[in-house]
Amino acid sequence: MPLTSPAPGPPSSARVAAAVRHAVGAGLLGESRPVAGFIDADGVRDSVAALQDAFAATPGVLHTFAAKAASLVPVLRLLADSGMGCEVASPGELRIALDAGFAPSVIVLDSPAKTRDEIRQALALGVTLNADSLDEVHRIDSLRPRGAPSVIGMRVNPQVGSGSIGAMSTATATSKFGVALRDPGARKRVVQAFADHSWLTQLHAHVGSQGCSLELIAAGVAETYRLAEEINETLGTRQITSIDIGGGLPVNFDDDSVRPTFAAYAAALRTAVPGLFDGRYRLVTEFGRSLLAKNGFIGALVEYTKDAGGRRVALTHAGAQIATRTVFMPEAWPLRAGAFDAEGRPKGGPLLVQDVAGPCCFAGDVIAHARKLPELQEGDFVVLYDTGAYYFSTPWSYNSLPRPAVYGFSVAGDGSGGDAVRFAPVRDAQSLDSIAEESGAGHADSLLALGLRSGR
Ligand SMILES: *Cc1c(COP(=O)(O)O)cnc(C)c1O
Repeated sequence: MPLTSPAPGPPSSARVAAAVRHAVGAGLLGESRPVAGFIDADGVRDSVAALQDAFAATPGVLHTFAAKAASLVPVLRLLADSGMGCEVASPGELRIALDAGFAPSVIVLDSPAKTRDEIRQALALGVTLNADSLDEVHRIDSLRPRGAPSVIGMRVNPQVGSGSIGAMSTATATSKFGVALRDPGARKRVVQAFADHSWLTQLHAHVGSQGCSLELIAAGVAETYRLAEEINETLGTRQITSIDIGGGLPVNFDDDSVRPTFAAYAAALRTAVPGLFDGRYRLVTEFGRSLLAKNGFIGALVEYTKDAGGRRVALTHAGAQIATRTVFMPEAWPLRAGAFDAEGRPKGGPLLVQDVAGPCCFAGDVIAHARKLPELQEGDFVVLYDTGAYYFSTPWSYNSLPRPAVYGFSVAGDGSGGDAVRFAPVRDAQSLDSIAEESGAGHADSLLALGLRSGR
């Protein structure tokens, strides 16, 4: 086996089981810490290695991680240390990418609403920018100092269609992202923009995320490649030197297996767009979910159980504040749930149809509907698998619920017992002082003194 292949570690659910048992034993999960997120640090490194391997035949690929998928500085630093760059889409993401240690030259700024200040800052730092519209190209032109070191690209929307989740589909006819290539006259205007601005040297497309097939994503990348070829031919020079193919590889949420793999995606791209890999273009990727989802889980205490209308309901501390998409779109974002006992061991026994509900005060706050699980009891734990991307790293502050703590972990052994597990802090649980401060406690009296009407 070549040295670059990651060693096939124990299956992720075995590592999760070891981590849950040790987290409960160490008090990271329990009565006073009823919910937390966990990141498998070895798994993250393995996923990065699998991505790098899939593109290894093409030199000089810049793999960036989409920061919004796990916006946690220690996670970003682990990715930086593994050789990744970082894709950011807001001043906050740019700040934490810099704090995590990414060099500006491996940071890519994508956002459909960059302010003049954000553009100035990115240009001053030498961060790569992808303009989201022709108007933004003009704005960059007016702000760009001569000889600015930033690579500057243009995002296009190849309009190849929708995947199975509308809100995740960025290449529909009316998507808000990029320059819509198939609109009348658009292609000509794009070519003209490159002709007018020799500093435009990159094309970018991100054809959608979860719910989009490999074929749909590859079709969008192929369309972008054809446009790059057309522009370079029209201009008679190889002005476009890099193509940013975005991220969007979907994740399997049904079981432990990683599918599609990065290797399968690279193979699909090689078939659809062979010219992309012949070294004439520097490639940039921007994967998020496919790198992190299967490398994280949520653990939550079962506080109570009850029966209602013939249904058993387990009331846990994992709800919409930590699994927002799943609660609001349960059909599109189902999660695997696991039952663990009060010592953090996987529960056995007969299966019972149960709802797993969260702590938020609205009736729809249910993370698993009518799920067959071993009977949950007060003091047990529920694990939500594959939540390493876009879940605990992106909490929602509904009901003034605190952001839960996040821990990294590493498992030595095969996960079958007797193994050593080490934890490291990633993010502290939010304090009540912090909640009060975010809720305007520093301005507590401000509305009392506001009245302009007489007598107040
Ligand atoms: C969200 C996003 C990504 C990452 O998408 P995943 O589905 O998490 O891989 C990449 N590029 C852009 C521009 C994005 O908005």
